[in-house]
Amino acid sequence: MILVLFGPPGAGKGTQAAFLCKELNIPQIATGDIFRKHLKEGTELGKLARSYMNNGQLVPDEVVWDIVETRLAQDDCANGMLLDGFPRTVRQAELMLGWLDGQGRVLNAVLALEVPDEELVLRLSGRRTCRDCQATYHVAHNPPGEDGRCVRCGGEVIQREDDQEDTVRKRLATYHRDTSPVLAFFEERGYAHRIDGTGAIEDVTRRLRDALA
Ligand code: ADP
Ligand code: AMP
Repeated sequence: MILVLFGPPGAGKGTQAAFLCKELNIPQIATGDIFRKHLKEGTELGKLARSYMNNGQLVPDEVVWDIVETRLAQDDCANGMLLDGFPRTVRQAELMLGWLDGQGRVLNAVLALEVPDEELVLRLSGRRTCRDCQATYHVAHNPPGEDGRCVRCGGEVIQREDDQEDTVRKRLATYHRDTSPVLAFFEERGYAHRIDGTGAIEDVTRRLRDALA
């Protein structure tokens, strides 16, 4: 099963990907997580990505595609994958569909989470992220363990630099300008399912399951 989990920053892609990937036994490919790993390791790619990320902008398509193409070719993607935070431009979507076509593979579905902007700002400003495994929490809706550490791996839970409110607003503007046209692109090709991303986390999971069924 090859899936794209689509939506604005803060829509709940990472939160829901954790459940779906476990159930479907497919890897989660999250481009933001890949960039943050490079950032933490201090690689050249990490330094380049940081300058875009902390300004609320997108990393250039060629840089993103280079990383995604390498990742998709790995063995664990042979039986499928869930893409989270990719594609974010029409160009990235075209590159992905072209690559799949060349491999004789098909995209099964694009699950698009819809959440209003005001709710996204509240979610992102309260988001906390594990520095080690990238699990996400929310100060009010989904807190980390009692010791403030990650429930999954025990790592330190921090606020991402780009989750400061001024950067959050820039990221939302970037989403509306550059990324929302990707949904129309997938709708025209019959891949997209719009899903209400508001309400309790488990209700959203149920809607995603229903859409897949
Ligand atoms: P994305 O990966 O789309 O950027 P996340 O999964 O990291 O979004 O979710 C953003 C924030 O919102 C996190 O703090 C997460 O705990 C919280 N969150 C996710 N789903 C919900 C929900 N249904 N209701 C309230 N908060 C949520
Ligand atoms: P995310 O973790 O998905 O919120 O991504 C964090 C940041 O990484 C984004 O704001 C972008 O700067 C960058 N990024 C992640 N995925 C992509 C992508 N597919 N295309 C361009 N930039 C990306």
